[in-house]
Amino acid sequence: MILILKPDVTEEQISHVLEKMEQLGLQAHLSRGTHRTIVGVIGDEDQLRSEPLLAIPGVKQVVPVMPAYKLASLDAHPKSSVVKVGNVEIGDGKLGMIAGPCAVESAERMNHIAEQIRQAGANLLRGGAYKPRTSPYSFQGLGEEGLKVLRDAGQAHDLPVVTEVTDPRLVETVAKYADMLQVGARNMQNFVLLTEVGRSGKPVLLKRGMSATVEDWLMSAEYILSQGNPNVVLCERGIKSYDRSTRNLLDLAAVAVVKRLSHLPVIVDPSHATGRPDLIPDCAFAGVAVGADGIHIEVHDCPEEAKSDGPQALLPHEYAEVVQRMRSLAELMGKTISNS
Ligand code: PEP
Ligand code: MN
Repeated sequence: MILILKPDVTEEQISHVLEKMEQLGLQAHLSRGTHRTIVGVIGDEDQLRSEPLLAIPGVKQVVPVMPAYKLASLDAHPKSSVVKVGNVEIGDGKLGMIAGPCAVESAERMNHIAEQIRQAGANLLRGGAYKPRTSPYSFQGLGEEGLKVLRDAGQAHDLPVVTEVTDPRLVETVAKYADMLQVGARNMQNFVLLTEVGRSGKPVLLKRGMSATVEDWLMSAEYILSQGNPNVVLCERGIKSYDRSTRNLLDLAAVAVVKRLSHLPVIVDPSHATGRPDLIPDCAFAGVAVGADGIHIEVHDCPEEAKSDGPQALLPHEYAEVVQRMRSLAELMGKTISNS
C-alpha cells in the first residue's frame, strides 16, 4: 500500500502516520520528493484495507499495490484455470457451449430442445426453474419440478446442466439436480447467495451484474473462491446503456480486461446482452475473438410460445450454424469446443 500525503502535510502529521503504521505492526518507508511525500507500507494489505487510512490527518490518497480479489487474480495464479462441469472442461483453450431455453417449460419441450442442441454441438444444457422476473406477475418458473425435468433431459442427451439459483435457501435443492449453479445478473452482489454457492463446491456460472464494474464482478467471484470453491466461470451478459438498439450493451472489452486480470474462465452471453437473434451469431464470434472461453445462447424450438425471453431465442437450426462457424473460428485461434 502507498500513502500519498497532502502537499501541506506537517512534520507532526508525518510522524503520526509513521507511528500509526508501526502500531499496526507494518513497516513504513518515508520518501520525500520535491512536490510530494509518500509512505510505502509493507505488510498484510488485507489488514490495511480495513483501516480508515484516508481519515488519518495529512493522508491525501491511498494506493493499493495488490488487487483486493487476491484469489481471482492472475498474480496469485498465473496459469488459466480450467473448470470441469460433468465431463466438459471450460477454460484454457476449451470452449463451453451452453444452450437451451430461458425457462424449463415442460418435459417434452425440454427433451426436444436438448436433443436438437446436442446434435448442433452444444456441450452444456441450460434452463431456468427459478426465474428472476422484473414483474411479480410474469412466469416465475416450475421450481423443483423444473429441476427434475432439466436433469432428466440432460441425462437423456448426455449434457451436464446449468440452472439459476436465486435464493440462498434453495442452493441445496438446486445443487441436488444441477451440474453447475448459475448466479444471475440481478444477484451478482447477493453476498449470502455467493457464500452459499461457494460452500456447495459445485461449479458456478457468475453473471456480471448489469451495473457492476469489472472489479465488483471479480470481488463477487472472490466471495465464492474464498469458501474454498475454485470452480468459478464468469459470464459477461451486457450492462445497462442509454442506447435502446440492443437490450443491454455487450461489454466485449471487459472480457479482454478480465482475461488480463484473472485466471478464471469467462464466457459471453450474447442473448441477454443484445436481446436480438439477428445480432447473436456475430456477437458470439466477437466474444471468442476477444478471448472468451465459451458462449451462452438461449435456444427455443418455438420462440413464439416461450414463457420467457422468446424474442431473443435462436431456433435450433440457427444455433447449429453458429456452432459450425464457431468450430472454424476456434481452430483459427488454437481452441477447441470442449468434448467434441
Ligand atoms: C437467464 O440466464 O435467463 C437470465 C435471467 O440471465 P441474466 O441474469 O443475465 O439476466
Ligand atoms: Mn433468459
